[in-house]
Amino acid sequence: MFLKPDYNLKRIFDIDLDELKAQGVKAILFDLDSTLMASKTAEYSPEIKEWLKGVRKDFFIAVVSNNKNPEYIEKVTSVTDFPVLFKANKPSPKRAKEFLKNQGYDCKSTVLVGDRPLTDIWCGKLMGCKTILVDSITADTENLPTRFVRHLERICVRK
Ligand SMILES: [Mg+2]
Repeated sequence: MFLKPDYNLKRIFDIDLDELKAQGVKAILFDLDSTLMASKTAEYSPEIKEWLKGVRKDFFIAVVSNNKNPEYIEKVTSVTDFPVLFKANKPSPKRAKEFLKNQGYDCKSTVLVGDRPLTDIWCGKLMGCKTILVDSITADTENLPTRFVRHLERICVRK
């Protein structure tokens, strides 16, 4: 299946950073909402903050988000101390590719991590990055309709 990610993980914390390093990965692009933070909260949990600190010891990190809301963008920017691309227009690879290049990295040595196959994983594939699909960071507390949509979308990535 063309949307099959290189890794399909339950939790973002399950990413094997040593393995990525051994594969020559230099940069990790993260989706924002539901991947690094609970959707539309503009807040990183202490747990994710701590984890990102560790990730940054070995990798360049950045966020690639489709969000267009100016207020939200401002809030996220004020609590983020690494590069963020908003209005990324995923799954189109164009803006994310340009952004990555401007940061000095190429797609081959980059991983894209996200919770949505049809935007994040597709974008990563079109860019020529490795891809990691993670469950929503708030998967346990999401309502039934949201979980159902996620379930449907994940059918696309099964073998
Ligand atoms: Mg997301």
